[in-house]
Amino acid sequence: MSDVTDVVNPATEQVIALIPINGVEATDEAVARAHAAGPAWRAVAPADRARLMRRFAATVEDHHEELAQLETANVGKPIGESRDEVAMVAEVLYFYAGAVDKHRGATVPVAGGVDMTFHEPLGVVGAIIPWNFPVAITSWKVGPALATGNTIVVKPAEITPLTAVRLAELGLEAGLPEGVLQVVTGKGSVVGTRLAEHPDVAKIAFTGSTEVGRDVMSRASGTIKRVTLELGGKSASVVFADADLKRAAASAPGGMFANAGQDCCARSRILVQRGAMDEFLDLLADAVRSWTVGDPTDPDIKMGPMVTAAHRGVVAGFMDEGMGAPGGPVASHTAGAVPDGPGYWFPPTVVAPADPGWRMAREEIFGPIVAVIPFDDEDEAVRLANDTPYGLSGSIWTRDGARSLRMARAVQAGNLSVNSNSSVRVQTSFGGMKQSGFGRELGLEALASYTEVKNVFVATDD
Ligand code: NAP
Ligand code: MG
Repeated sequence: MSDVTDVVNPATEQVIALIPINGVEATDEAVARAHAAGPAWRAVAPADRARLMRRFAATVEDHHEELAQLETANVGKPIGESRDEVAMVAEVLYFYAGAVDKHRGATVPVAGGVDMTFHEPLGVVGAIIPWNFPVAITSWKVGPALATGNTIVVKPAEITPLTAVRLAELGLEAGLPEGVLQVVTGKGSVVGTRLAEHPDVAKIAFTGSTEVGRDVMSRASGTIKRVTLELGGKSASVVFADADLKRAAASAPGGMFANAGQDCCARSRILVQRGAMDEFLDLLADAVRSWTVGDPTDPDIKMGPMVTAAHRGVVAGFMDEGMGAPGGPVASHTAGAVPDGPGYWFPPTVVAPADPGWRMAREEIFGPIVAVIPFDDEDEAVRLANDTPYGLSGSIWTRDGARSLRMARAVQAGNLSVNSNSSVRVQTSFGGMKQSGFGRELGLEALASYTEVKNVFVATDD
């Protein structure tokens, strides 16, 4: 018998479920089942594997509202965001169902024979998932892993396991064979580390913090596991004076406060060209005041609570510097209202202009605080944007097409948007540069990190 732990709704502080805290033994059993299921899953004819994945996608669509409500109850994210994310899960599964028979090898011109390549599955994949997008990020790993013939064991974040558990049940209901997709709930320090070290796990697909990613990578090195890491970010939105400032300001809250800022792509720095600063800040203050905070099941609400009381404390700590410290630097500060009563609320907060040396301007906040920082010219904008160990995402706002392309090439980040804050699409690759990690999820690019290229040479000379 495993122990159980409470799962809490961060908007109500009510316990909504009890979930097993599994140990090493249960993790090993799941890996053994995944390992045993591998050969048969690999042998399923491509069209049949694709059909099963489409059925899985359709089953998710049939349970769309149930999954969305569950995600909102567990994470506290607005129901509209949860609905979009669950819709994305189905879209991811359809996309990779379509890729089953399209990740093809090559024939290579060589002397003395025929040479060909195969994209072989890796075996058992261990997927380690963070709490901020539990079901969507699970699907980003499950989709390409299953499409390429791997089996997968998913370890959700301890505090947000409910949708991953339900997703695996729906997979079985849709006809996935036993052992192909499993979820093991429990602690990262137990289940996560065991997956990273287990000799029968071929690859770890990790999304989470840079600190834990570093630990996962070093544990995985013992068995030379394949590793992909999607880690933290400190992304910048760069607003030039020639931009459509109204549009940039109206779109800014979505770029920094979606999912209450608990988003690895959050633009938690806005770099604004000095001449446009005053006008932009006025527009931004209006946009932030309309970013309503409250009951995430209300479809009109833009932002829910922080995921836990402890996390709210971490986020609030970023306001000490500059704001709270006696004699510290003074900054203007705009914040929205938050509900009274239970729930781990924190207001959407703009600090401007923020000193680029402040912690809030340098470290990942993972909450709804944005530091607005002035710059003079393009060179300074590039320097500030890149002045971080991270390199995940970012935006460039300008009407000058050539400048947008110069900036897009100069900013070191895996995903950039011009005149937009959108970061993630099923069809396009997603991942980081520098300490935001390596490997790409989504798009056709993800297939490469779930397969190994095997080269076969057949001598044909007499
Ligand atoms: P986290 O603390 O790194 O945890 C991520 C996952 O790793 C959880 O399932 C956690 O389990 C597990 N874990 C913890 N310690 C482990 C260990 N020693 N070995 C193996 N697994 C371990 O991250 P988080 O707090 O959930 O999420 C926030 C972070 O994720 C942020 O830094 C954010 O930027 C990043 N993130 C990145 C992306 C991206 O795509 N780049 C997307 C979302 C989030 P427990 O829950 O049991 O601790
Ligand atoms: Mg954590």
